[in-house]
Amino acid sequence: MLPAEVMQQAQAEFINWQNSGSSVMEISHRSKPFIEVAAAAEQDLRDLLAIPDNYKVLFLQGGGRGQFASVPLNIASPEQYSLHLQTGSWSKGAVSEAAKYTHTHVVAKDTVNADNKRIIPDIADWDLPEDILGNTAFLHYCPNETVDGVALHTPPKLPNVELVADMSSNILSAPINIADYGVIYAGAQKNIGPSGLAVVIVREDLLGKAQAQTPSFINFTLAAEHDSMYNTPPTYSWYLAGLVFKWLKAQGGVSAIHAKNLEKAQLLYSCIDELDFYHNNVAAEFRSIMNVPFTLANPELDAQFLAEAEATGLHALKGHRSVGGMRASIYNAMPLAGVEALVKFMREFAAAQD
Ligand code: PMP
Repeated sequence: MLPAEVMQQAQAEFINWQNSGSSVMEISHRSKPFIEVAAAAEQDLRDLLAIPDNYKVLFLQGGGRGQFASVPLNIASPEQYSLHLQTGSWSKGAVSEAAKYTHTHVVAKDTVNADNKRIIPDIADWDLPEDILGNTAFLHYCPNETVDGVALHTPPKLPNVELVADMSSNILSAPINIADYGVIYAGAQKNIGPSGLAVVIVREDLLGKAQAQTPSFINFTLAAEHDSMYNTPPTYSWYLAGLVFKWLKAQGGVSAIHAKNLEKAQLLYSCIDELDFYHNNVAAEFRSIMNVPFTLANPELDAQFLAEAEATGLHALKGHRSVGGMRASIYNAMPLAGVEALVKFMREFAAAQD
């Protein structure tokens, strides 16, 4: 969901934006008023994430998957390796795409502990052959696996290896230290705004390394040189992202929303852990605070659970088609009241089956 206040503002100025007589989506991306919208969105994102001056912020197209290809094309040569920490379905998807443009090496995959709960192996247990390490362009990981609900809350750092993070489903949910990363990217449609946009934060010295075959419209260097307007950007998504950034600032910024996100996640996991009726298969340390997958002890009740939830006004709880079960996505815009309503429903549903 997007914040209700943002939707209301967008609705109010949909046809007549700032008394211009036009919708913001009708004006040229090169017009002064739109350039101001674009620059304000960038500045607000810089403020929210404390992005240092030596990083470029790009507003591109192609969503999250687009960057699976764009990142290796832009910062690795075909002879180099990209290392991959594979912790779920999205980081796995990034490996097969990168393999078209570089050599790839999976350093570790998520596994299970003695309690059969999913964990991410410690760096000490990674497979890091010396010859590959000496020829590595970057290490890619996904701090929040949207489908699996598996998260790595501290960045995995290898000496002298650039870190690339797919933050599609957790950007702006918790404070981060940008300087830990060479590239951060995110499809917009979780914590940023509507789909159609991808945000890329790239350290300047990584520009200028694109493979010759890189299509111009996904070339980070060209995008940076043209203020993300080498080709026409998705202007309406960019404008709405700007409204979301202003909303987030008004909420107190990233630290404040992080505290709220922790409270929401804690409430939901407590309910799941307390009742034998529900189960989450991720070890506590690696649980996502954005996506909470869970199963019912009796999967025959899944359809009834979903139907009754829907009737109560609790939408989109069906787990990803690849894993089944349930998944509650509790992004920044989801209020605590939404999670409270879900937990109340879950407790009542479980009690009714006794
Ligand atoms: N990475 C992550 C972590 C995601 O959650 C998603 C989409 N849910 C993607 C990549 C793919 O994004 P898109 O559909 O915008 O290409």
